[in-house]
This record gives sequence, C-alpha cells and structure tokens, in this order.
Amino acid sequence: MYFKAENLYKTWDNIKIELSFECEKGSMTSIVGPSGSGKSTVLRIIAGLESCSPSDKKARIILNGKDITDIPPGKRGIGMVFQNHSLFSHMTVEDNIAYGLRCRHISRKTGRKTAGEYLSRFNLEGFAKRLPDTLSGGEAQRVSLARTLIINPELVLFDEPLSALDAPLRKKLAEEIRQLQKDTGFTGIMVTHDLEEAKRISDRIILIKNGSLKWAGSPEEFKEDLL
Ligand code: ADP
Ligand code: MG
Repeated sequence: MYFKAENLYKTWDNIKIELSFECEKGSMTSIVGPSGSGKSTVLRIIAGLESCSPSDKKARIILNGKDITDIPPGKRGIGMVFQNHSLFSHMTVEDNIAYGLRCRHISRKTGRKTAGEYLSRFNLEGFAKRLPDTLSGGEAQRVSLARTLIINPELVLFDEPLSALDAPLRKKLAEEIRQLQKDTGFTGIMVTHDLEEAKRISDRIILIKNGSLKWAGSPEEFKEDLL
C-alpha cells in the first residue's frame, strides 16, 4: 500500500486516539467524524507536527515504501492545507506560492516561472503582486493550495480547507481539488465535516469516533446514519 499509518496512538485528558489505516496511491481518502473525535490530531501526527504517546505497539508511518515515522516534518514529502490558510501576510501572492521552492534553494527566476504556471492553473492570473489581506476567502484558499502543491508533495493532508467558504464556492473548489488530483496524481487525505463533499470527492471514506475507526468503505456505501 502506498501510504500506511499503523498504531497511531495519542492520549489527551479527555480522549484516547488509536488508529491504523491505509491509502492507495493517487486516491483521496476523506476522514469524517464528530467534532473532537481526533481527526486533526491524526493529521498532525502524520505530518510530524505532533508525536504519539508511548505505547506497546510501535507507531509506524510509511509513505511510498519509506518509513517516515522519525523524519522531521519538512522532509516527509507531505503538504498540508488548513481551514485558516496560513499565508505569509507580508509576502505577495507570487512569493507565497514560490516559497517552498525558495526553501529548496531553487533560483528566484525559476521560482517565479513555476509560480506563474501555478497562478494560471489556479485561476489566479493578475493576483501575483497582491498581498494576502486583499484576497477573498476563496482566493486565499486557492493560493494556499497552489503553495502546497507546487513542491509536488507525495501526500497532501487537508484539514477542513473549505469550511470557511460559502456553499457554492466550496463545491467549486472541491471539484478543482479533485481535478488537480487527477492531473497531478497526488495522494490526499481530507478531513471534512461535509458528508456530501466527502461522498463527491473521495475514493474512500473513513469514519472515526472517539479516536477509533468506526467504519471505512466506498462513498457509495457510506450512509449518513453511520455517524
Ligand atoms: P477533531 O479535529 O476531530 O475535531 P481534534 O484532533 O482537534 O479533533 O481533538 C481531539 C481531542 O483532543 C479534543 O477533545 C481536544 O480537546 C483534544 N486535544 C487536541 N489537542 C490537544 C492538546 N494540545 N492538548 C490537550 N488536548 C488536546
Ligand atoms: Mg479538527
């Protein structure tokens, strides 16, 4: 399997998260479940932003045949998109998008050129020199997606990236994410509380409750009363 999370384990005061799951290459897996069931924590553990609690069973995170469990977040080949886009407010849209390339010591010139390609792919032509504060929610989220995807992450984690947007825009951006996935082949894990969205854009749905897997299956098999 392309991506495997085995024996993820985390205890907070009020919850015990214990989870294993797998994703196929190029697929979109949606994680759904009640608020507070551990969805964001699971993504943060996979990204390396949170460590697991001690446990008898060793947690392992495997991506594309490589054990990334102990690799620092920036080197895992994982991109993340959050609900509240975390754009750098003092940088133009273009520089925000090119940021990951600059960090990888790619020249400013090549960075600009590649950023230009992503600006057009995300329908952001004309926004290159704008600052994040001047963007609408949908535009900012597009910049955020472009900035994440420009470095070709092997795995992209989405934590309710569309929650702050109104329904029509949500639907449109969800379709764009799906199309981009078809074009570029990244593997995605998407946390969402929008069950319709989960059914529309994913290949597989995982339901977690109280930190444990309650159900996993295809969008066609998913029934809202499972929640
Ligand atoms: P979800 O994304 O499904 O809403 P979270 O993963 O954010 O759930 O949180 C799951 C539970 O873990 C919540 O009850 C939350 O209060 C708790 N939790 C999350 N982060 C921390 C933390 N840093 N310290 C203590 N408890 C936390
Ligand atoms: Mg959350």
